[in-house]
Amino acid sequence: MTTIGVLGLQGAFREHVRSVEATGAKGVVVKKKEQLDEIDGLIIPGGESTTMRRLIDKYDFLEPIRQFGKSGKPIFGTCAGLILLASEIDGSYDVHLGVMDIKVRRNAFGRQRDSFEASLNIEGVADDFNAVFIRAPYVEDVGEDAKVLARYDGHIVAAQQGHYLACSFHPELTDDHRITAHFVKMVEESKKSLAL
Ligand code: GLN
Repeated sequence: MTTIGVLGLQGAFREHVRSVEATGAKGVVVKKKEQLDEIDGLIIPGGESTTMRRLIDKYDFLEPIRQFGKSGKPIFGTCAGLILLASEIDGSYDVHLGVMDIKVRRNAFGRQRDSFEASLNIEGVADDFNAVFIRAPYVEDVGEDAKVLARYDGHIVAAQQGHYLACSFHPELTDDHRITAHFVKMVEESKKSLAL
């Protein structure tokens, strides 16, 4: 059985567990760093990146999550989770996990477009993905090793770099589980290659 952990410090983590379970994998809420040893992949949910960072520090998750990624286990960051994965945040000296070579802009769609839905073409995932954006960031730039998976209005809203996946929207808030299923597949593949 493939077990996916969802970082449960803040934000929409329970909905992610539901989405993981809809794909047939096991979903667990991760509240302590020791639980990282029991999971094959990790989802970092949406919420508020600065609040989540404070809690990551409080519960001593920063280095353990970096090590989890370094060991080859996949990580999927959604919305605030994408911001936490990025190596650069526009207009800020802050970098959180910094494991993905992407430059992000927070709250990038502006006030007028605080929340909206859009149908996206996500490479290798779906050409009609129903995406919900809530005070979403977008990716301004990706490094050589990162691949753009989707754009909205010309802006990058999903990217993948090896075993790291990130998107600007909230896939856990609809019944469209296809990007979660894509992540579960990444985790299953990494499990096989890590077992060799
Ligand atoms: N605007 C939030 C941030 O900067 C992200 C919003 C979200 O996760 N829905 O952290």
